[in-house]
Amino acid sequence: MRDVTHHFDALILGAGAAGLMCAIEAGKRGRRVAVLEHADRPGKKILISGGGRCNFTDLHCRPENFLSANPHFATSALARYTPADFIALVEKHRIPYHEKTLGQLFCDRSARDILNMLEEECRVAGSAIFLDTRVHEVGRTTEFVVRADNAEFRAPVLVVATGGLSIPKLGATSFGYDLARQFDLKIRDPWPGLVPLVLEGEDRSHYCDLAGVSAEVIARCDGQQFREKMLITHRGLSGPAILQISSYWKKLQSILIDLAPGGNATAVFRDPKMTRNANSLRAELRRILPSRLADRWLELHTPSSWTNAALADFNKQLHEWQLTPAGTEGFEKAEVTAGGVDTDELSAKNMESRKVPGLFFIGEVVDVTGHLGGFNLQWAWASGAAAGRAL
Ligand SMILES: Cc1cc2nc3c(=O)[nH]c(=O)nc-3n(C[C@H](O)[C@H](O)[C@H](O)COP(=O)(O)OP(=O)(O)OC[C@H]3O[C@@H](n4cnc5c(N)ncnc54)[C@H](O)[C@@H]3O)c2cc1C
Repeated sequence: MRDVTHHFDALILGAGAAGLMCAIEAGKRGRRVAVLEHADRPGKKILISGGGRCNFTDLHCRPENFLSANPHFATSALARYTPADFIALVEKHRIPYHEKTLGQLFCDRSARDILNMLEEECRVAGSAIFLDTRVHEVGRTTEFVVRADNAEFRAPVLVVATGGLSIPKLGATSFGYDLARQFDLKIRDPWPGLVPLVLEGEDRSHYCDLAGVSAEVIARCDGQQFREKMLITHRGLSGPAILQISSYWKKLQSILIDLAPGGNATAVFRDPKMTRNANSLRAELRRILPSRLADRWLELHTPSSWTNAALADFNKQLHEWQLTPAGTEGFEKAEVTAGGVDTDELSAKNMESRKVPGLFFIGEVVDVTGHLGGFNLQWAWASGAAAGRAL
């Protein structure tokens, strides 16, 4: 059977957050757009985002909320498509939402509302979504030629929005990186971000039986710090503070955890009437930490004596728990992929390749990675809009 050839003004590979936003913006400008998606439905990651409620943006989104070899790269796109722009779209579709913490916006009902909205906007803009379309090959003559099962797509413009490597069971592939390499674009080696850390040896045996216990901490690594909740798991540490710091962590590095931000478990002993012994210290520690963690900490860090110096040392250890994780839970569990197509290769204004005119990269496949809290989706919207408006 002869392959059908479809001609469009622009082809977008990947119907995730970035690809759909790009299709909407380009379609609104009258471009004939096709989005090619290998899964049987679009936006699978949007559906599971934010625990099914989609943390679709953060009111306080700033370039500082992103990791990239070039920390200034994201500034332009983020300034031209802001959280307010996305909120206006959400409100136009009468989607109920709420602010959870620190400016993070979530759907009241379900992430399905956001996906329905994007699909509806695509439909109105006249952009076509081809599902179950596995791309085998991309070539370039005078235009881009994309070969899929039983069909060929041609267009002068190709936008790569195939995402990163996280959660392979949802359809993540290395396709975007492979394509960048095919066109001789540099890649910053991808690594799992926003991912639980794994402990081994004594660290695991000392703490992991406390799985489920959580505490507010400050986690520090590589000059960064996050004050949020930490959760002990069966294999190591998780919770927002750990997920955030994991994006900055590299193998063999240690992390520092302040288990008692702003607290002082030994200040009470400045009172000469206060008895200095394990029971009174345990009671103080339990005021700061969950009881099980307080008891375990004291067991493992019993002060060497009850002198002022020994108590100061105990307090210092509590604020500077140094750990060297054995690794991370990897791409299987990572919320995001850090690294990716080197931003030196792309225009910060519209995401177009400097070397290959007409080739664009948007969303997670680019070396721009957000903190936890709606920033990765805001980057997908902003970079998708930047490219879509330039097609
Ligand atoms: C569990 C989880 C929860 C998350 N929660 C949030 C949250 O609440 N807020 C937030 O901001 N971020 C969240 N994120 C991150 C966010 O979902 C992603 O950063 C964002 O979806 C990336 O958008 P994207 O369009 O670049 O890539 P994706 O959404 O991954 O889309 C890429 C698309 O390309 C398709 N594709 C891949 N390869 C091919 C190929 N060869 N041919 C055709 N199609 C292909 C994929 O099937 C997919 O549909 C979460 C991530 C996970 C895993």
